[in-house]
Amino acid sequence: MTKVAFIGLGRMGHGMAGRYLDAGFSVAVWNRSKAKAEDLIARGANWASSPAEAADGADAVVTMVADDGASRAVWLGENGAAATMKAGSLAIECSTVSHQHALDMARELRGRGLTYIDCPVTGLPQAAASGKLTLLVGADAADLDRARPYLAPIGDVVRHFGAVGTGTVFKLINNLMGAVQIASLAEGVAMAEQAGLDMNLVADALATGAVASPQVIRHSKRMVARDFSGASFTAALRHKDAAYAVALAESLLAGPPLLGRAAVEAYARAKTEMPDDDEGRMIEIVSRRK
Ligand code: NAP
Repeated sequence: MTKVAFIGLGRMGHGMAGRYLDAGFSVAVWNRSKAKAEDLIARGANWASSPAEAADGADAVVTMVADDGASRAVWLGENGAAATMKAGSLAIECSTVSHQHALDMARELRGRGLTYIDCPVTGLPQAAASGKLTLLVGADAADLDRARPYLAPIGDVVRHFGAVGTGTVFKLINNLMGAVQIASLAEGVAMAEQAGLDMNLVADALATGAVASPQVIRHSKRMVARDFSGASFTAALRHKDAAYAVALAESLLAGPPLLGRAAVEAYARAKTEMPDDDEGRMIEIVSRRK
């Protein structure tokens, strides 16, 4: 049976790991805190005491952890996956990491005879649990072909942007634009509230008018209602993505990325005040009266 090691069982990774079980793979799982693995173990996953133990004998290792530091730790840290991976096996990074980190991991893992591809995703946790993610891949075409059997259980759309690192370039652009839209929406909603507008009408007009991007549609009613129940992308993760994206923008653009920097500043405040809360709660910060 084909063996996958899945590392990182947070909001996204938990559902993704379950998809491999549903698809009939032998699945070894590791997470920093074991409690999140219990129901997967009950469904047939094998608990590993470290990323290295999970990766031992695996045909592919898939990671879905928070950021660059977590990614480096699970690939190359003490008892990291790279220590036991079979020569030629696949290292599939689904975490959103910085562009430089993706390039560094590709180089360091290639130096150990492994194939690293970046495969950050779009889609919320419910899409992760149902195999409906969009996968943003950076890989040589031949490496992507080898990886496809391991991508099929988790995503229904694969967008191949080019060589390793390019999936992450697009993901960071996408999430920086999202950060700008959500922070700007919070300011618009707060202005409308303080001007005394009918907020049901405002929510409807925003979600159906010319600025009705999927982010505006998703967040406008939630912000107006102050209802942040359901699947979540946290303020800390949004800040991390925007900061990685601005670092990339600064390396690519002639001038400073002014809107991107403003979004990083807005989410730095949200991260300080409510790191593990939904990113849409930006409205609560913006709407405080002077
Ligand atoms: P999450 O629920 O906060 O989970 C983060 C995961 O990273 C957990 O498994 C956590 O372990 C692990 N982790 C954090 N620091 C670590 C470290 N130093 N060493 C080892 N493991 C560490 O986040 P998420 O929402 O699943 O997001 C995971 C990744 O997907 C992030 O890169 C995020 O940007 C990206 N993403 C998220 C969404 C979304 O809607 N949530 C959508 C697309 C992409 P513990 O459980 O022990 O804390």
